[in-house]
Parts: sequence; C-alpha cells; structure tokens
Amino acid sequence: MHEIQVHNTYSGKVEPFNPLRAGEVRMYTCGPTVYDYAHIGNFRTFVFQDILRRFLKLRGFQLTHVMNLTDVDDRIIANAAAAGVEIREYTEKYVQAFFADCRTLSVEAPEHWIRATDNIEPMVELIQRLQQNTYTYDSEGSIYYRITKFPDYGKLSKIDLAGIKAGARVDNDRYEKESARDFALWKAPKPGEHFWETAVGPGRPGWHIECSAMAMKYLGETIDIHTGGIDLAFPHHENEIAQSEAATGKKFVRYWLHAEHLLVEGEKMSKSLGNFYTLRDLFAKGYKPSALRFALASVPYRRQLNFTFDGLQQATSSVDRLRNFAARLKNEKFPTGKNETMAVRIAKAADDFDAGLSDDLNTAQALAAMFDFVREANIAMDKGEFRSSEVKTAQEFLQSFDKVFVVVEDNDAEKLKAIGFGAAETGPGDAEIEKLVAERQAARKRRDFATADRVRKELDERGIILEDTKDGNVRWKRK
Ligand code: AMP
Ligand code: ZN
Repeated sequence: MHEIQVHNTYSGKVEPFNPLRAGEVRMYTCGPTVYDYAHIGNFRTFVFQDILRRFLKLRGFQLTHVMNLTDVDDRIIANAAAAGVEIREYTEKYVQAFFADCRTLSVEAPEHWIRATDNIEPMVELIQRLQQNTYTYDSEGSIYYRITKFPDYGKLSKIDLAGIKAGARVDNDRYEKESARDFALWKAPKPGEHFWETAVGPGRPGWHIECSAMAMKYLGETIDIHTGGIDLAFPHHENEIAQSEAATGKKFVRYWLHAEHLLVEGEKMSKSLGNFYTLRDLFAKGYKPSALRFALASVPYRRQLNFTFDGLQQATSSVDRLRNFAARLKNEKFPTGKNETMAVRIAKAADDFDAGLSDDLNTAQALAAMFDFVREANIAMDKGEFRSSEVKTAQEFLQSFDKVFVVVEDNDAEKLKAIGFGAAETGPGDAEIEKLVAERQAARKRRDFATADRVRKELDERGIILEDTKDGNVRWKRK
C-alpha cells in the first residue's frame, strides 16, 4: 500500500495524510443549502467527498464524518417567506430529495447528518465565546466578527487584505473576495422572518457560524479533514477558521480539500444559459445513475470537470465494460490451473489502483489501472489463457475497486424506480438477465426451442446479446 497524500488548500501543497489519532479520521463536509434541488455541480463535490470517504474506509480508517444540511440561510428565508410557509416546512422537501439523490448516486450516508436548525444552541455558545474573547461587535441588533483582530485571516484563500476598510461590514452570507469585510455571526430579525430567542438576543445565525459550531460539536476542536467545493474556500471556510480558532486558540482543520467546479459543455452552469441540470433532469433523458456517478468521479477532484453528454455516453460504455467483465468472471468456465503471469498482472493492477487513489485521489489513474487490466484480461480470456485459479483474485480486485467507485453492481433500474422513474429505458439488471438465461438453458435442455428462442429474442430486444460457448454454456453481454 502506498502513502496517502492529499492537497491541502491551506498549505497549497500535496502533503502526506496522517490523522491526529492513528487509525481514525474525523471529517466534515459542507452539505447542501436545501433551498432547491441539488444540481450536478453540487454532486461533483459530493461524489468527490464520497470517493475520499470510501477510499479512507477501504484503507482501514475508522471514519467519523459529519455532513450538515444548511436549512437556514438568506435564500431559504427569502424563498420560505415568498411561499408563505415556515422554513422547516419549506426545506423538508429538498432535504428528502437530497437524501434520495445521494442514495441514487451511491453517495454513502455520513455517520452524522445534521441540520443547522437543530443546532442553534452550540452556535449561540460559540458566539458567546467570541464575545468573551473580544472578536465581535454589535450593530443594530446584529453581531459581527472583526476580521482585523484575527491575524491569520485570508491564509486559506490567500486573499490580499491590504485594501480592507476596518469596520466595513457585510450582511450577506455569500460575497466575493474583493469585498472581504466583517461578517455577520448573528443577524437581527427582520419583519416577517423566522427568528430564535437566544442568549445573544433574538435573530438567526449567519451561515459561517453554523459550520464552525456543528463541526466542533460533533468532531472536537481540531478536525482532520474539511471538504467542500472550491467556491467555499472564501468566504465560508476562511470565516470558519477565523471563528473556530479565535474561540479555541487551536488549529481548527488539519487538511482542507476543495473540489474544482464542474462546467457544462465548457460553460458555467446557469439556469439562464439553459445548461443547468439536476440529477432528475438527466435521468428523465434516460441516463443511468451509475453512468453519472462514473462521469463525476472520473476526473480528479482538483481538475475542472467539463460535463458533456458525449462524456456521459462514454461513462455509460465504461460502466458496461466493467459489468460485462464482472459477468464474464462469474459465468464463464475457464481452463483449470494457474497462469502465473496473470496472477502477477492482477497484483500489479491492484497496486496501481491504490497508487492512483493514494496520490491525492487521482481517480483517472485508478480507473486506468482497472481498464488496462480489464482489456488485457479479456484478451487472455478470448485466447483461453485466463485460468480458473485467477478468478477469485480478479473478483476481489473488482470488489475493492467497487467499494470506492460503486458502479459494477447493476442496480440502476431499482434506484431509478425508487425516485419515481420507470425501469423501461434502463435495461434489465444482472439478476434478471441471469434468471432469463437460466430459463432459456432449461428450455434448451428439454428441447423446447420455441421458448429458448423467445427468451433470446426478448433479451436481444432489451439490449442483451447471448453467445453460446463450445462447452454448452452461455455468455451474455450488454450491446
Ligand atoms: P451549496 O448548496 O450552494 O452550499 O453547495 C453545495 C456544495 O456544492 C458546495 O460544496 C459547493 O462548493 C458545491 N458546488 C456548487 N456549485 C458547484 C459546481 N458547479 N461544481 C462543483 N461543486 C459545486
Ligand atoms: Zn459549511
């Protein structure tokens, strides 16, 4: 196994990864702001952190991973008020949709899903600590963080603070680097807005204090990994550091990992350009969850991912190639004995796979390790050189690969069904195909060729090709 290295935005370098407590990783991911359905850009980042999480688990780390749901922020308050409902009622639909989307894309549930509105108390306590340490000031019922009091401000996002006016404030949760200002920790209530009565007065939390308070409540004052999309480095994560470290005097996060943004056909995704996609938009066009996961995972997280429909089509073929290979391993009869060269080849592929992921989660390299192996193994199988002794090790490699990538098992149809899409266009799953193949074999055995032909035709219409082998067995693959 290779030493795990990750790129730490704070140092700007790729560093060896060593958690604070050996064998345990405490990780925080900024979850979605649940004011709408999450889009494929959001899922680029969520799939990245899922690959990271799964790889760390594969490497034997015990994970405590927290993902929050930002269910109170400027946009939610505005949308809920416009809809005339309480924020909890407004966000519930999008929370449930997000959970369903995660299940559909095999984004594993973290150890703790937490909601901002369930954690107002720790946010208030953190603000009180900052007040005691004199990092705050009040203005018209709101509480602000004085950034000039925190000498490390700007170190994560490398902003130049030269032009900053002391005392200039910003109330919005999201703002550009050029307008770095004192930011709101607690916002005074506005007429008609949801607010909480608390020890720091009536109002609601700013977005940044939410994540500082929740991360420290669930993971302690110093955590190993914090992830998010690159747009969160400033101001959100910069502000998280300022808040947490000013309160505790300790380092807040040891490794900051940020995913580059996703573009669509080379352009920034936006509703006005008509290139804005939720998962459901793509499933409605007939694409499979596994293909989307593969497409999002295949570009290393620090590279910009240019999402294209061609790319999604290629991802579909790549997933099919893996599934066909898994089916071959399972169904074909190989000559008995051992092929030493192939045994060595499998070990090398597994090592290359680990090397790729260990190198700052280089998913492209890890996938290349798998696909090079699949190509060579398929050739060996065609030549009759793949032997029965290697089946188990090849399957084990495929299994550990799939603990991270999670695309080999064919459950697309069930997943789509669970979120209300029919199975019609997605083709049958492995289990169903095997059942039909067995039915056809049984029909042939009893010389019921009409039934055998009917089953073959049905499979053909559903995209499955059967090949009868010399030894009387059947091999199937997707077209
Ligand atoms: P939000 O719900 O806006 O707080 O975003 C949730 C996550 O998605 C954050 O980690 C964002 O950085 C990330 N994100 C937003 N847009 C994109 C994009 N186009 N590409 C990749 N990640 C994104
Ligand atoms: Zn956050």
